[in-house]
Amino acid sequence: MDFAILADAFNKMESTRKRLELTQYLVELFEKTPQEVIARIVYLLQGKLRPDFEGVELGVAEKLAIRAISKSSGIPIKKIEEEYRIGGDLGHAASVILEQKTQTTFLVEDITVERVYETLFKIAKLEGARSQDMKMKYISSLLNDANPLEASFILKILLGTLRLGVAENTVMDALAIAFSGNKENRKVLEHAYNVSSDLGKVAETISEKGIEGVEKFEVILFNPVRPMLADRVKSQEESVERLGNNFAAEYKLDGERVQLHVEGDKVVLYSRSLENISSYYPDIIEKIPKSIQADNAILEAEAVAINENTGEFLPFQELMHRRRKYKIEKAVTQYPITVNFFDILFCNDKSCLDLSYKERREKLEKIVKEDEYAKHIPMAIVNNENDVEEFLENSINAGSEGLMLKMLDKPYQAGSRGSYWLKLKREYQNELGDSLDLVVIGGFFGKGRRTGSYGTLLLATYDEDVDMFTSICKVGTGFSDEDLDQLYQILQPKVTIKKNPRIESEMEADVWFEPELVIEVVASEITLSPIHKAARDQVRKDAGLALRFPKFTGKIRTEKMAEDASTNEEVISLYKGQKKVAHDKSLI
Ligand code: AMP
Repeated sequence: MDFAILADAFNKMESTRKRLELTQYLVELFEKTPQEVIARIVYLLQGKLRPDFEGVELGVAEKLAIRAISKSSGIPIKKIEEEYRIGGDLGHAASVILEQKTQTTFLVEDITVERVYETLFKIAKLEGARSQDMKMKYISSLLNDANPLEASFILKILLGTLRLGVAENTVMDALAIAFSGNKENRKVLEHAYNVSSDLGKVAETISEKGIEGVEKFEVILFNPVRPMLADRVKSQEESVERLGNNFAAEYKLDGERVQLHVEGDKVVLYSRSLENISSYYPDIIEKIPKSIQADNAILEAEAVAINENTGEFLPFQELMHRRRKYKIEKAVTQYPITVNFFDILFCNDKSCLDLSYKERREKLEKIVKEDEYAKHIPMAIVNNENDVEEFLENSINAGSEGLMLKMLDKPYQAGSRGSYWLKLKREYQNELGDSLDLVVIGGFFGKGRRTGSYGTLLLATYDEDVDMFTSICKVGTGFSDEDLDQLYQILQPKVTIKKNPRIESEMEADVWFEPELVIEVVASEITLSPIHKAARDQVRKDAGLALRFPKFTGKIRTEKMAEDASTNEEVISLYKGQKKVAHDKSLI
């Protein structure tokens, strides 16, 4: 196929941003395209050579392109740079320069889409010492035979500056119209694209076998599936409104999403954007096969950096130290992780996408054997706002970002942000200005490496009116290893068999303490709580106040008596102050 046809279509597309017109130009182009080249055309339209997950990168630098233009036109580099500065687009600059040249030379041969594509592919694959020279030779040989318009598009593809404004959806609309005569068939194409992540392959199939061929697309091992995404909710109330009274809540861990394709000892890892990230995680490749009890599987997990001593989840930034090309072995030991599985998309040669969440979770738990390294993401079935709030608190205390809420009876919707998954994240917008001194009333045993300490503490305010200690929050973040040791030493002798009658708490702790020790915490916000007892009924009937996302500041206030702790009155005034700030802000 003549490259001129493609250059002409690109040229028309560049001149409009109207979706209908773009679709029309695409339909006309596809109708002229032979079956054998349509996949290549679809990749080129998107400025690519292959689907993203194959990692074929063009990566040509401007300097090199300028040298190639100079070589093929005989015009000095300085002049080309000048032209480039005027227009700001090297593709355009090349067409202006070559316009001057074509007046004096003959075109040697017509260039075809196949030839351009093969040459670009060779350029992308070149590596090593002499690769720059070779790349330049390839580019200038193409430019020699290209007319100015063709040259400008070849350069734009090479430099990654082709901006046709065609979204994947527009390409699919045009494919549906061109090859099935019906735009409605886009849905079928979308499904095929979502399970294969390869729009070129979808185009080739519809052009060769029609829409029936596309209907047969299925999940394939070692070919990534486009991930399902979640919508956002702002509160527990909204979650229940949208999901009803029986759904799953999972910890939303703050790591990297990894799609694992496993068969025997072979493991390939894809990122959320479908990049092959296997080389960053040699530990996953080595350790995971023994945890998978199936012949083959595609699984989704969150890889999370952990503190090896406490087992605590660490923020995403820690994990980014893994993103390096060299000395990866060192990074593996320096930044240990756990792999926390949350979904299964394929198992024993069969797709699991159409199974309900509940069925997939059951399968996942059966197939992934847990150990120190491979985990099932913590999950609870929740029925109301209180359940969500309690699980949210637990998750934040464990160092996670919030919750993912999932409908139990829904399938896996590859590639779409639907309403079957919702994310409830912590927000730090309303940072509480003040710290609070709170009484430690209960403790929860640490999990994993935190055994032998209290991983999480239950805290209370002092209610002067009735001389009671009222629960206000659980706290599990902000503790260093030394803090945990020290607190254990101090709290151990204060353990009581029965809850002290001066403690008011609906939440059950693993152990109760004499209400004596005071520690300092900060929090993002004070919220109404159906569970906690601080200032119960004083701001709103049947609600107490609670701290949202509390964090230990590192200060154990041994100089304070429990009765010196922050009082409910203080907390109410902080709560009202915070409302006033929000109100004042909305007036500005
Ligand atoms: P966001 O990036 O805020 O849109 O949140 C979605 C991301 O949360 C996913 O891409 C995953 O990387 C991550 N994540 C953490 N925990 C879960 C979970 N339990 N289920 C699904 N995604 C999760």
